[in-house]
Amino acid sequence: MMTANEIRDSFKKFFESKQHAIVPSAPMVIKDDPTLMFTNAGMNQWKDIILGTRDPEPRRRADTQKCLRVSGKHNDLEEVGHDTYHHTMFEMLGNWSFGDYFKEGAIDMAWEYLVDVLKLNPEDLYVTVFEGSPEENIPRDDEAAKYWAKHVPEDHIINGNKHDNFWEMGDTGPCGPCSEIHVDSRTPEQKAASGKSGRELVNQDDPQVIEIWNLVFMQFNRKADGSLEKLSMNVIDTGMGFERLVRMMQGKHSNYDTDVFQPIIKAEQEITGLKYFTFEEETVSPISKEQDDINVAMRVCADHLRAVSFSIADGQLPSNAKAGYVIRRILRRAVRYAYTFLGQKDGFLYKLVPTLVHEMGDAFPELKAQQQLITKVIKEEEDSFLRTLEKGINMLDKAMEELRSKGEKELNGELAFRLFDTYGFPLDLTELICRENGFTVDEEQFNVEMQKQKERARNAAAVENSDWTELQAGEQQFVGYDYTEYNCHILRYRKVTQKKNEFYELVLDATPFYGEMGGQVGDCGVLVNEDETIEIIDTKRENNQSVHIVKQLPKNPAAEFMACVDTDKRNASAANHTATHLLDYALKQILGDHVEQKGSFVSPDTLRFDFSHFEKVSEEQLREVERMVNDMIRQDIHIDEHRDVPFDEAKKLGAIALFGEKYGDKVRVVRFGPSCEFCGGIHATSTGRIGFFKIISESSVAAGIRRIEAKTGKECEELLYMMEDNLKSIRAFFNNAKDLQAVIQKYIDEHDNMKKEIGAYKAQHVERTKNYLINEMKNVNGVNVITHVLKMGPNSVKDLAFQLRGAVEGSLLCVIGSVHEDKPMLTIMMSDDMVSDHGLNAGQMVREAAKLIQGGGGGQPHFAQAGGKNADGISAAVDKVMELANL
Ligand code: ATP
Ligand code: MG
Repeated sequence: MMTANEIRDSFKKFFESKQHAIVPSAPMVIKDDPTLMFTNAGMNQWKDIILGTRDPEPRRRADTQKCLRVSGKHNDLEEVGHDTYHHTMFEMLGNWSFGDYFKEGAIDMAWEYLVDVLKLNPEDLYVTVFEGSPEENIPRDDEAAKYWAKHVPEDHIINGNKHDNFWEMGDTGPCGPCSEIHVDSRTPEQKAASGKSGRELVNQDDPQVIEIWNLVFMQFNRKADGSLEKLSMNVIDTGMGFERLVRMMQGKHSNYDTDVFQPIIKAEQEITGLKYFTFEEETVSPISKEQDDINVAMRVCADHLRAVSFSIADGQLPSNAKAGYVIRRILRRAVRYAYTFLGQKDGFLYKLVPTLVHEMGDAFPELKAQQQLITKVIKEEEDSFLRTLEKGINMLDKAMEELRSKGEKELNGELAFRLFDTYGFPLDLTELICRENGFTVDEEQFNVEMQKQKERARNAAAVENSDWTELQAGEQQFVGYDYTEYNCHILRYRKVTQKKNEFYELVLDATPFYGEMGGQVGDCGVLVNEDETIEIIDTKRENNQSVHIVKQLPKNPAAEFMACVDTDKRNASAANHTATHLLDYALKQILGDHVEQKGSFVSPDTLRFDFSHFEKVSEEQLREVERMVNDMIRQDIHIDEHRDVPFDEAKKLGAIALFGEKYGDKVRVVRFGPSCEFCGGIHATSTGRIGFFKIISESSVAAGIRRIEAKTGKECEELLYMMEDNLKSIRAFFNNAKDLQAVIQKYIDEHDNMKKEIGAYKAQHVERTKNYLINEMKNVNGVNVITHVLKMGPNSVKDLAFQLRGAVEGSLLCVIGSVHEDKPMLTIMMSDDMVSDHGLNAGQMVREAAKLIQGGGGGQPHFAQAGGKNADGISAAVDKVMELANL
């Protein structure tokens, strides 16, 4: 039996023998495309080739691509775990032809691989062809049917509708008819029992009759208005689910029973002490509902572990926004299943990471290299979600308690939604807990709330693009590495509406403008000719091209322009970018090789660099880093730039490639002395132009990820002046003393001494006042009474009151009004018998009397204080207490 790794290799070998270039998988997380967060098909990374904006050579390629289908047009999340053949993250084996072979070649090769090489039984294979769409004016794909007829009998060819047989990447973009290959993997017993042919079950959601390979014949581009235009070349794009293929090849009936998942599931069984039932085991003895829940939960966790780990390795950490939020949701789904059905009240997924790395780390070295980071991030996320889960469950418990006391049966939908929204409780979990306690949930209300929120989100995010208006055909030439001004024409433009703001995007035939990419902000500047000047407020990057953002279109868009970059900003951001490379190098030298870039932001004013490191970087280490970077700046190392280097050669040059970054076949390498990186950014011509480098802060951004913010050049100059001015003004406070530290130390010492002396004086004052008050003490009906108004701070008064209580024998009622810095305070102190025998309460009396000083307070029965605002009322307040005491 072939192992999963052998099957993966055989695919590559087969297409290599058919003259295909075997290329690496693109990252699963997409960074520079506003229309797509995650790779959902093998073709994503070739989108610009298909749209004609990138060189198609080599025209035959093949790979295995990491895909994630959890958002947007392709979202399988809710199926995952419940069925046995959809995953969140999966590998898609694919082969491509960009204007080389078309339908016949693709069909012949697919067949040869499955039947001649892998020896799948042709009787179990069915194929579909597009039935056509009259409203879009596309006929049935007779051509594909003709080529299939070379290999399979007519009754194995099935017409399919637009849903299944017209592949689209998203709402817009490349698309075309497709032919799917389905396999009937039922056991002979199942076939006999069902009485249906495989043909009848194709595309009917039967878990044993499933699609494994889709051959897409890309011919069209879907525009924003929904219409189709022809692509400039025919493209073959195929995708085969690797895990499904492995299952066929290993004679299994569930993807989870193959060696792709079994090791992980084994680890789950060991940790939980629960058992997983494979398809065969289930067939022998049908399983209970409880066991099925355990099965589903183990599949969910095994699947989600992969999705989350690969995403972290690709640089996408769980977070609160966008792609990070999607990853967080996947992780939380796994935690919920583990919590509810596998009894895991503590972090669980992170314990599975070693198994995953052991199984897949060779094929995907990014996993191995970042195992520590992946583990740490997952554990932290699990812990924090489990705490939230606990809080949510408490809230739910309280709500159910209330329902019980009111004799009601239904939990209101708003609360269910709040649980969902703030605590990540999906409706099914809330319902499950409620059901266990004999309650139902108002689902309708929940849906209403959900709808409301969706609308809020839609309104906030709505971006509308019009179609491109084409002025000239052609590709854009980027000249920004060599020029900051260049003659150009507008190739095409379109209007974009975002949150009611309107602007235009322009694509030029040649541009010196750098489009935001790799953390470096885009250039701004102007387009000028004799007639007008159009401000370019930003430059983005889309499909490998610079897209210029302008507030208004030129009056004559077809005219010739000079595109001029704002060079002050450009130079400042170039210097910051170069400094980032030096910083990366220095961090690796000083902290160690585990330092991996995890994000970077470079603008004219500042630079920010995120990297993996597991503890705070010490002050001394930061200094060392700064010294090393500044040393390289002073060496004024000249840029050594290599453009269009084949990827493998670049690696040989020793360039550092980032995990999760997408690189073309040809790359640019930027070297400054020992620092050598893959980089498409704009750099200083030599390190000396950075001027100076200073770290401003070092902090934590997430588990295992640190962030350094730094400034360079002119910004450092400003910083230095600010610090100098600060120091000057401090010195001025001390008469411009030469030795500032000694002077400040002297002041501190003097201050401390004075504090001590004042303390002693205060104590004396209290002592003297005490004696005076005891002298003045009156006796009213056998009670020693002290009343007085004096000037004294609150602490001293309290001290005084306690001293009086200690000094006076017998019954005591002491009422002191004091004023300190215009603030009145009323203090009552009594001996215990005043409370027990006379029934007095200092707290109550003080509250009542404090009204006269517009204040409030309280305390114990024998001692209470109240502060107030009206010092004039203090004598009256003292009298009031005496009146209340009623001796
Ligand atoms: P299905 O109808 O089974 O969901 P699909 O039509 O969404 O498949 P395609 O978009 O054509 O599939 O993707 C190409 C191949 O990738 C499929 O033939 C299948 O083998 C595999 N595939 C698609 N989605 C998944 C998934 N969620 N998990 C695993 N493999 C998948
Ligand atoms: Mg699907």
